[in-house]
Amino acid sequence: MEILYLGNEILRQKAKPIEKIGPEYKQIAQELLKVLNEEKGVGLAGPQVGLMERIFVVHVSGDEPRIFINPSIIETSLETLKYEEGCLSIPNLYADVIRPAAIKVQAWNEAGKSFTIEASGLLARVILHEIDHLEGKLFIDRISEFKRSKIIEKFEKAEAGKDKAESKRVKSRRAKSRLAQTESPESPKEES
Ligand code: ZN
Repeated sequence: MEILYLGNEILRQKAKPIEKIGPEYKQIAQELLKVLNEEKGVGLAGPQVGLMERIFVVHVSGDEPRIFINPSIIETSLETLKYEEGCLSIPNLYADVIRPAAIKVQAWNEAGKSFTIEASGLLARVILHEIDHLEGKLFIDRISEFKRSKIIEKFEKAEAGKDKAESKRVKSRRAKSRLAQTESPESPKEES
C-alpha cells in the first residue's frame, strides 16, 4: 500500500460501498493500520492508498485503533469547532477547518459487526475528515479559496523540490559509479 498525494485524481473519486465484509477485510484493516502507524497519522481512508471502497481506520492518541466500514453520519452537533487539520495525502501542510464538534456515526467493523459511536473532539474531527475522503473530498475543500491556493502552491513547491533532490541523487550515484570505474578499471563488473 502506497499513499497517494494531492493531484492524483483517484483522491477525487467516490468510494464504493462494501457489499460483503468477508474475511479479507481483517487483513485490509491491518494493512491500513500498519501504514497509518508508519506514517504517524491519525486516520487513513481506502482511497488514500487507491482502494476505492468505503473503509477507513483511525487511531488518535489515548484511544484504541478503530475501523469503519460503510459509515453513515446519524447526527452532528450544531456546535462547531475550528481545529488545525493536516492530511497524509498533503504532507506537512495544515489549515484551520470548521466542523461539527460532536457526531454520532454508524458503521461496521472488519468482522462485519455493526456499531454506533458518539464522538467529540479529535476523534470526531478525524472521523469526519476520513468520511470526506470516501466522498472524494479533501480538507482543503473546506477552507477559503485563498488559503487553498496557498496550500496547493506550497505543496507543488515541495514536490518540485523532491524531484530536484531525486535527480541530484541519481546524478551523484552516476558520478560515483563513473568514479569507481575509472579508479579500478580492472575490477569485475558485478552489476550489469
Ligand atoms: Zn486526509
